Amino acid sequence: MRILIATSEVSPFSKTGGLADVCRALPVALKRRGHDVSVISPAYRCALRAGRPVEPTGLAFDVPIGSKIVSGRLLRTVNDHDVPVYLVDQPEYYDRPELYREAGQDYADNCERFVFFCRAVLESLRLLGGGFDIVHANDWQCGLVPAYLRLEYEHTHGYEQTACVFTIHNMSYQGIFWHWDMLLTGLDWKYFNWKQMEYYGQLNLLKTGLVFADMITTVSPRYADEICTAPHGCGLEGVLQQRRSVLRGILNGVNYEEWNPQIDPHIPGRYDVTNWQEGKAKCKEALQRLFGLPVEPSLPLIGMIGRLVDQKGWDLVGAILRRWAPVEPVQWVVLGTGEKPYVELLSQLAKEFPGRIAARFEFSEPLAHLIEAGADMFLMPSRFEPCGLNQLYSLKYGTVPIVHATGGLADTVCDASEENISQGRATGFVFEPYEAAALENALRRAIALYRNNKEVWAAIVTTGMAQDWSWDRSAAEYEQVYKEAKALHQAALEQRLAQNR
Ligand code: ADP
Repeated sequence: MRILIATSEVSPFSKTGGLADVCRALPVALKRRGHDVSVISPAYRCALRAGRPVEPTGLAFDVPIGSKIVSGRLLRTVNDHDVPVYLVDQPEYYDRPELYREAGQDYADNCERFVFFCRAVLESLRLLGGGFDIVHANDWQCGLVPAYLRLEYEHTHGYEQTACVFTIHNMSYQGIFWHWDMLLTGLDWKYFNWKQMEYYGQLNLLKTGLVFADMITTVSPRYADEICTAPHGCGLEGVLQQRRSVLRGILNGVNYEEWNPQIDPHIPGRYDVTNWQEGKAKCKEALQRLFGLPVEPSLPLIGMIGRLVDQKGWDLVGAILRRWAPVEPVQWVVLGTGEKPYVELLSQLAKEFPGRIAARFEFSEPLAHLIEAGADMFLMPSRFEPCGLNQLYSLKYGTVPIVHATGGLADTVCDASEENISQGRATGFVFEPYEAAALENALRRAIALYRNNKEVWAAIVTTGMAQDWSWDRSAAEYEQVYKEAKALHQAALEQRLAQNR
């Protein structure tokens, strides 16, 4: 199949979260299955400075944005395994220090920037030679791609065969803008109604994507169920219930070329399932030194990495740390960037308990790798988690995950209950409900086992390390969805043609 993946982030060119990792790895896995895959993303300043050669293509386009005509051009670079990445160059929109927001404020013209990007995607389907089977649009930034395809391009030569799959990576970011931004889209006001693009008087780009796509996916089966209900549907549960028959949950995979303790260039002791004890001990020592913690091989060390936002459960972490740090012999290492109140909370705690808690507020891939390798346990108490990647990295690195039973965390971590341990299935610790007491209970179970039962601990570690969460499995599921989308698209197209006749 010929596939174009449209995304507002693709690692290593641009990244604020898991979407960037998905759009780097999924195309490679699809290519391995014999598909012709390209990626399209904005030419942000960081993308042009990613250290990869970027070439002009000579392909340019003009599109209407409100009452203006705006020009753009396509640049070309390549990602892993020679996957072509087309960067949409429009310096006024994308040559900025950040992707979406600066100093805690969204860019005021975000709607316009991504209306333009979506139009650029549609134009690119033609400029890149046409004949695409699938355009795979991701998140609200690409929400207009399915709408433009259906409402403006469907009957145009070269577009007839193209079906659209839309993937939700996180329901809580919806791209909601005031109603006058409808004018920027160039679409008829008749689509501004509660069944299509409107959401309580405002324009909702995520909803638009959900309504017009042929098939919808999200990043875990459990999250696919959760978002059809409140509160996880974040107000769009009704739309999702309507579209439940075309909604699928496909777990993200791990890029094991990047996240594998056997070959990881960022860690001092490489290891696999046979020698993880020595390898992890070396990494733990390096981690303790780097973060200024006492080098104590036998103290449990708990790692945390993630955006410092409400979703990730930092309120629970804050409560536990304050209670535990003065009395419990446990070390905590935190790496994150995000909202000021959490930065303040965590830096205050690190200051109060310097031998127990260490925190860095930066985005650092090397540090993330070292934490995954050096920690004994990895804590991910997210309120909700569409898929989550760090718990999957943790499994591979022999770092036992402690997670809230939600979304992809529930789908990928098997709790160390007596039954699961005896059946050799346990890989971590799972708690619910979302409360400090439940988390504390899981932590106590984990620490007791770590201290008192080395044999069972080793079994949990090695069961996790042996699992395969690679992209190959997920890519096969996406392929299936693409096939279904094509069939549905063809049938719907014929039906619409018959109605118009
Ligand atoms: P989300 O997409 O909601 O941020 P995921 O767990 O799916 O959460 O993906 C987060 C990705 O971003 C992981 O690869 C994680 O290691 C990385 N990450 C998050 N914060 C940081 C940070 N401060 N430094 C390095 N990597 C980070």
